[in-house]
Amino acid sequence: MQSILPLPVQGIKPGTSTGQIFWHNESSERTIESYSPADGQLIARVYTSTRSDYDKVIETAQAAFQDWRRWPAPKRGEIVRQMGDQFRIYKKELGTLVSYEMGKSLQEGLGEVQEIIDICDFAVGLSRQLYGLTMHSERPSHRMYEQWHPLGVVGIISAFNFPVAVWSWNAMIAWVCGDVCVWKPSEKTPLTALACQQIIQDVLRNNEVPEGVSCLISGSRETGEWLSRDPRVALVSATGSTRMGKAVGSAVAERMGRSLLELGGNNAIIVSQHADIDIAIPAIVFGAVGTAGQRCTTTRRLIIHESIYEEVKQRLARAYQQLRIGNPLDEVNHVGPLIDQQAVQSYLAAVDEIRSQGGRFVVQPGVVEGDGFESGCYVKPCIAEAENHWPVVQRETFAPILYVMKYRTLEEAIGLQNGVPQGLSSSIFTLNMREAEQFLSVAGSDCGIANVNIGTSGAEIGGAFGGEKETGGGRESGSDAWKAYMRRQTNTINYGTTLPLAQGIKFDL
Ligand code: NAD
Repeated sequence: MQSILPLPVQGIKPGTSTGQIFWHNESSERTIESYSPADGQLIARVYTSTRSDYDKVIETAQAAFQDWRRWPAPKRGEIVRQMGDQFRIYKKELGTLVSYEMGKSLQEGLGEVQEIIDICDFAVGLSRQLYGLTMHSERPSHRMYEQWHPLGVVGIISAFNFPVAVWSWNAMIAWVCGDVCVWKPSEKTPLTALACQQIIQDVLRNNEVPEGVSCLISGSRETGEWLSRDPRVALVSATGSTRMGKAVGSAVAERMGRSLLELGGNNAIIVSQHADIDIAIPAIVFGAVGTAGQRCTTTRRLIIHESIYEEVKQRLARAYQQLRIGNPLDEVNHVGPLIDQQAVQSYLAAVDEIRSQGGRFVVQPGVVEGDGFESGCYVKPCIAEAENHWPVVQRETFAPILYVMKYRTLEEAIGLQNGVPQGLSSSIFTLNMREAEQFLSVAGSDCGIANVNIGTSGAEIGGAFGGEKETGGGRESGSDAWKAYMRRQTNTINYGTTLPLAQGIKFDL
């Protein structure tokens, strides 16, 4: 396998790497240890950025912006196109590292790299389509239009569960918009971030892209706080828990900066009596156990019509019996580990809470032990009968726990679906057109994503991705999500010989 990491891996000082010319390292002696949840092995120690490293990175990024913003957008798109080609070359290596460091299946690791490639392609096209509108002025011999300018430094704070794709959804779009990026990856997955920076280095160097267009800082919460409190950072795009989003959102608002928040979900599927159950079952199982329940779009609640409740429950229980739990790099396995033992503890705490709140397990939970499970991070996907209003159901437990509940009328089902603090992804399985349209209508799902006859997880990059309420309201990736990375300017030009004022106001001198 070709190396996608700056070698030697052990003891790399990436702290403030701006990527293309040098791997900047200064005074840091603190390290993050990266363990694989697949086998519990220590993969590497990565130095964290100090405050002075951080300041140097931001200054370098600010200087780079002065130049980068003047590059024509299609030329910036050409840089992103070349980056996409690099990710095509290193797809297997990076996908394997994602799988090993984060614990998702190899297929999903490769899928994540494919998302980077796809967003690169999308961003290249976008670089020629950063359209503004023209308006008809009410004044004669006047032209009015709007244009979009880049914001400056964009801080990207990412979560462990999509360790590389989330960065690319932000960075590739921000770059074609003319912004420069400073990425703080999750402290749980520092190596995949280093690998991405390494993969794009040649493109940056060969094209003489200004030093500082792509920056990487490493650290945990404190390092993220530097970004959210720093007025030099125009936009902070933060992906992670609602707890983190509340802290980042208020810190950025305090200094009147901009934030784009992509936070937790509590996603439900409604299974109607008019559903094609044969397609609903695989969608539910993939949605609930894929990435071991550690997707923001994971299916956490199942709202089933009472007439088919027993049948769906039994078919799911049978499907769960066939799931193979094990090393994510082995393609025969369906379910890999949780990210770390702390995540296992929250899974177990939720299981206790479900029992104490009156829940009944249809498929039993537990930690998997024995040969091949030495990391202690493997848990059994489980299903519990529960009620929507229970505190444990109302919050997101980042693990493969699926709650099932019954409904009688569609209004009731939509009420249950919407009756949680989060608003990311939702779906209905029905072949009844009236039900589907009602679910998608103004009185239907209140989520950022609402699907019919597909599950809650697995969004495509072409659509705007994000959710409402405690999910944060941000939109990333496709559609016109690029507008969040730019500032709008309205321009009026008078090409006449008089000065008519708006609203017919007279001001004679
Ligand atoms: P987390 O909130 O623990 O950490 C996410 C990132 O925020 C990390 O880089 C962390 O260092 C940083 N951080 C934490 N506290 C901070 C603070 N006060 N200020 C600045 N930065 C801070 O989340 P996690 O455990 O890595 O990821 C799982 C969560 O992410 C889940 O809730 C999941 O739903 C959510 N998520 C959401 C989306 C989405 O698009 N909506 C996508 C992926 C993950």
